[in-house]
Amino acid sequence: MEKDALDCIGYCRDCGQEHCLPAAPALDAARELLADMERHRSIGLGMDDDPRLHLGYLSGPARGQMFGVLLARDDSGREHVLKAFSGQYNGVWEVPGWVPPILDPAAFERVIQSDEPRIKALTREIDLLASTAPVRVRLMAERRQLSQGLMARIFDLYWLTNLRGQTRSLAEIFLGSGMPTGTGECCAPKLLHFAATHGLIPVGLAEFYVGRENRSGTRSHGEFYAPCAEKCRPILGFLLCGRDRHGEDTSR
Ligand SMILES: [Zn+2]
Ligand SMILES: [Zn+2]
Repeated sequence: MEKDALDCIGYCRDCGQEHCLPAAPALDAARELLADMERHRSIGLGMDDDPRLHLGYLSGPARGQMFGVLLARDDSGREHVLKAFSGQYNGVWEVPGWVPPILDPAAFERVIQSDEPRIKALTREIDLLASTAPVRVRLMAERRQLSQGLMARIFDLYWLTNLRGQTRSLAEIFLGSGMPTGTGECCAPKLLHFAATHGLIPVGLAEFYVGRENRSGTRSHGEFYAPCAEKCRPILGFLLCGRDRHGEDTSR
């Protein structure tokens, strides 16, 4: 793999150029985190013994998950190591010592609870109807509209802040169309948003996979990967914007 193939890269619309954050400075801290997780057999890392946090979850149906480490500096030059897991871990949004999700989990639950029962009820009705019934077509259109509305309301829960101090919604930031489900839940956006909102300047970011090799064979245990092209690259340019104001080179 090329030396910089793991780097965090994204095009920034405001600057008309790509911004980049290297992976190399964070690799050692990421290896230490993996060793820590394996030693404790849990992402609670000895601070939280909730059985839902055990690593065994990753060898079950979940198969595996991405983890990330951000090495950052504060104003006084002190180094900080931030860590994140992608999405939820075994249904848990917040774990002590890990950066929180960008959205407010309580607001997420409220949005889900308002629409999901209606969508599920429609699905049950649709399944009972003959595939040629005209009412079935109408119900399917209704369900599609509800699902799209639900997706839009979930995306609207993500407001991201960059290193320039700008805060925008996912829909405003995302480059291109067809934002995939789960955009904003990966490690890189969680870590960069946390750094930007806590006065920390990113120095390096590395993501690695933990679990069984995935079905398509593109992820294996303990390997490093660049932030994903589908969900992350279209928002990373915004999130990395402004790092140069803190004396870091962001252009390439
Ligand atoms: Zn991603
Ligand atoms: Zn920029």
